[in-house]
Amino acid sequence: MVLAGGTGNLGETLYRDLAELCEDIESTTKRLAIVDLISQFLKKLSIGEVAPSIRMIVGEAFPEWSGKTLDVSWRTVQKVIKGITKASDEEMLQAFSKRGDLGDMAKILMLRKDVSKQATLLQKPLTILEVYRSFQAISEAKGSGSKKKKENIVLSLLSRAEPLEAKYIVKNLIGEMRHGASSGLMEEAIAKASGAPLEMVKRTHMLMGDLGDVAEKAMRGGAQSLNDVKPIPFHPIKPMLVQAVDNVAEALREHGGETSLEYKLDGARLQIHIRKGEVKIFSRRLTEVTASLPDVVEQVKNNIQFSEAILEGEAVAIGKDFRPLTFQNLMKRFHRVKGIEEMVREIPVKLYLFDIIYLDGKLLIDLPYSERRKILSRVAGELELVPQVVTCSVDSAQEFFEEAKSKGHEGIIAKKMDSTYTPGRRGRKWLKIKETETLDLVIVGADWGYGRRVNWLSDYYLAARNEETGELQIIGKTFKGLTDEEFEEVTEKLLKLKTIEYGRTVRVKPEIVVETIFEEIQKSPKYESGYALRFARIKRIRDDKNLEDVDTIEKVKQLYEKQFKAKSKTL
Ligand code: ATP
Repeated sequence: MVLAGGTGNLGETLYRDLAELCEDIESTTKRLAIVDLISQFLKKLSIGEVAPSIRMIVGEAFPEWSGKTLDVSWRTVQKVIKGITKASDEEMLQAFSKRGDLGDMAKILMLRKDVSKQATLLQKPLTILEVYRSFQAISEAKGSGSKKKKENIVLSLLSRAEPLEAKYIVKNLIGEMRHGASSGLMEEAIAKASGAPLEMVKRTHMLMGDLGDVAEKAMRGGAQSLNDVKPIPFHPIKPMLVQAVDNVAEALREHGGETSLEYKLDGARLQIHIRKGEVKIFSRRLTEVTASLPDVVEQVKNNIQFSEAILEGEAVAIGKDFRPLTFQNLMKRFHRVKGIEEMVREIPVKLYLFDIIYLDGKLLIDLPYSERRKILSRVAGELELVPQVVTCSVDSAQEFFEEAKSKGHEGIIAKKMDSTYTPGRRGRKWLKIKETETLDLVIVGADWGYGRRVNWLSDYYLAARNEETGELQIIGKTFKGLTDEEFEEVTEKLLKLKTIEYGRTVRVKPEIVVETIFEEIQKSPKYESGYALRFARIKRIRDDKNLEDVDTIEKVKQLYEKQFKAKSKTL
């Protein structure tokens, strides 16, 4: 890429430079080359342009916890593109089908209609900050008339854009940047451009939760300004994740002969932030859910013995017999189908704490787990901790696993006694042992049903992520597992996400993540992925997960090989 170094308003960097960078990233598979391109680009920006640029390159215009979203529908974007390019429906479909991407469609149509020439002749070129300010204006459009307002902003942006710029504006608007700039690569680029050590950039990212903020801090003062980053209450931190193992013996071996076992509760993970008597709660995806959990807020408030803290726990819905209700029941709380008082009465929630990340000015993530747990029990007051045993014995570990299941829990989690808390990482310090293996897949299409299901999109195409190409690849199809109520709900959602429809099939923007069980994984030429699930069934809809959490083809391959090994042992 040749950086035009072009500037528009008052010396601002042109958006064209950013679009060209994204195009270069998309056409490169070499990791180092991408890191180099982004780092060169960062060095040319003014400080105020760093955070907006990083967010737009990654495709997340605003961090999830900020509560801001673009929320522009495909239909609106399509309508604007049609208006600008005067393309027929047939031409739109043809352009879309080339790569199945709305951004590419915009570029193709604008090039064909040559609207760009008129645009560039008549208008001043767009700058990075202008585009970002428009995104902010879109996120602030609320209430009645907001749809029209958003449409007008999109129209004024796209009518000034060149074809390549339009491609990336559209991709940002609809939240689909499918090029190879993963957050790992961005961290490397930020480290390279700022001179700060990569580990420090990663750690700051975990604590601040937004690459834009991290990059701005790093570019401003290098390692020194990253050194003093502390978590900020009400600014969520990426949660530490867990790896699966087959049995308790493996977990004990992995943890050096002794481990701490906790129930794996089947609820929703909560990150609870407390500052001077005020409480805010964030979900696993770091969205704020305080308003859905007034009873949990109350429980926490009644037990606070400190000024500032960040705690972690699991909220479980409790049935009449005091056994945990299913995850789906708990999710009703977050969807708030009824008034919150009624929901609190109908679906009581109990909080179980399992970790503490921050306490009165001190970051605790570098302390061993055993120490954190001690601190947690000291400050928790009457709040309950997740049941735990520390053991060296396979037999007692197995007993604890059976006990967890018999009480209606999912399984257990083994936590290494001396392990630090590593936000955002899925390492082997926390290991889960569950009864059956599942895959988190995303719905990329659906067929209309037959007979009783004729009005529902009820047969789903399920995809995993190919990490090398970033593509979502189908590995199975199922119409099993959902209740009538859920079919109705999912149909409604899928129709909003519809991109094209042909015959009985609807293609959708990938957004709905489902946890899927299956009998077997087979090698199959039927799908591009090379794998197919046999007897797949949806276990539950995972509203608490997003595209980043979708399992990879690599994991599918590993599971395939594992079952092959398991079979050969029985022969
Ligand atoms: P799964 O798909 O198996 O439910 P996940 O993909 O949501 O897991 P993992 O990181 O694999 O996430 O598993 C950890 C999850 O288990 C946490 O996000 C949390 O919600 C839940 N959990 C339940 N009990 C515990 C516990 N005692 N300690 C930590 N996490 C727990």
